[in-house]
Amino acid sequence: MTRSDKHENLKNLPGIDHLLELSKKNKSFLDIPRSVILESVRTALEIIRKNILANIETPINDDTILMQMHVLAKEKIRPRLVNVINATGVVLHTNLGRALLCDDALKNITRIAQSYSNLELKIETGKRGIRYEAVDELICELTGAQSAIVVNNNAGAVLLALNTIAENTQVVVSRGELVEIGGSFRIPDVMSKSGCILKEVGTTNRTHLKDYETAISDNTGLFLKVHASNYKIEGFTASVSLKDLVSLGKNTNIPVMEDLGSGTLIDFSKYGLPPEPTVADSVRSGADIVTFSGDKLLGGPQTGIIVGRKETIDQIKKNPLTRALRVDKLTLAALESTLKLYRDEEKAIRKIPTLRMLTLSFKDICKKADLLFKTIKKDIGFLADIDFADLNSRPGGGSFPELNLPTRCVTIQPENMSVSKLEINMRLATPAIIGRIENNQYILDPRTIQDGQEAIISSTLAKILIKNDQ
Ligand SMILES: *Cc1c(COP(=O)(O)O)cnc(C)c1O
Repeated sequence: MTRSDKHENLKNLPGIDHLLELSKKNKSFLDIPRSVILESVRTALEIIRKNILANIETPINDDTILMQMHVLAKEKIRPRLVNVINATGVVLHTNLGRALLCDDALKNITRIAQSYSNLELKIETGKRGIRYEAVDELICELTGAQSAIVVNNNAGAVLLALNTIAENTQVVVSRGELVEIGGSFRIPDVMSKSGCILKEVGTTNRTHLKDYETAISDNTGLFLKVHASNYKIEGFTASVSLKDLVSLGKNTNIPVMEDLGSGTLIDFSKYGLPPEPTVADSVRSGADIVTFSGDKLLGGPQTGIIVGRKETIDQIKKNPLTRALRVDKLTLAALESTLKLYRDEEKAIRKIPTLRMLTLSFKDICKKADLLFKTIKKDIGFLADIDFADLNSRPGGGSFPELNLPTRCVTIQPENMSVSKLEINMRLATPAIIGRIENNQYILDPRTIQDGQEAIISSTLAKILIKNDQ
């Protein structure tokens, strides 16, 4: 193209107003906001201008520009937060949104969101009420604690509790418990942000009661125990039990706090999982304050739950930080409904998705695997090797470190596509399907696949592999 040709082409580009007028008459633009269409006209023309200047052949007519505008506009209005299918077997997958809410919670969210509520009104007196009252009695009933408060998440709960109890004082923590959770939550950092002075004691693998004892100074404000959550130290180890730390605290008049992380309300050992101390156990051991997450093993909405002695919780309620970390009414609605189910453990296991998936029997997993296998075999049996593999699922969310839950997966090895390319295509599908690769096979773990998703997985596989085969 000569310079004058380029000039001619640029001059001949249709105008913005003309294209906008055309889009108004075009049905496919009906549901797209004008502001988005305007932006897509500008972008489409910009692309064409660049192509002309770079000597790239570009059709310049109203129809092709309108088509390009439509593609750009659709991309702009596409929802960013979308559903994905979790075929990883990791039940509490932080990247995939952690706990799925139970039906009761969903119904209660809708009920409370659509109408005014008594969120901060005492109906009996007509006076101002306290928002946490929707759940604090229930939490106390389920944990045996004197008092409770709920905040935005457990990181917030730890920050708030440390700041309230121990600002400007030394907080004694074992070196084996200075953990990092999910990259941005590190005990030493939270400690300094809450205005406390970290006093490390013991060693990575062994800490004894006398380490805590000798660390006590005039300025000691708290003993803190942190659940190691996402890792486990094995071999020559020693740690101080919460009970022993509590008696040292009683003798020396120093409060004791435990950050449980996951915090379960039921004893999972009854269901074949390793014993994990419940929140009630920690309360019974005499900790002044215990904090845990609402969307880990509890299976509820994102929250941080703080339970403990009434005086300490009252102090926390008065801390101005509490207002900055307060929970929304929808969260409270979901939490109330989820917690209510725990009054009947059998019901909780059946209705709370996290508990249901974690306690799924191997027999039931095999049934799910069978259905998935048969559906996939029927759709793409001629394009891939499909088999079973007995592997392990993981609970995730920093709960039960190292625990492997026996599971039966379906494995896929395509004939004409690499396993890594299949994994990418499944992830880019709508809805996105998140599986994993192990031993050069694409793995689908039925534990976290919800009823009815088998057909979606299978038809997505078929679309990808058949298109590739043509
Ligand atoms: C997960 C976890 C946290 C952070 O809880 P969030 O609810 O994710 O804020 C803090 N402490 C421990 C020990 C944890 O396992």
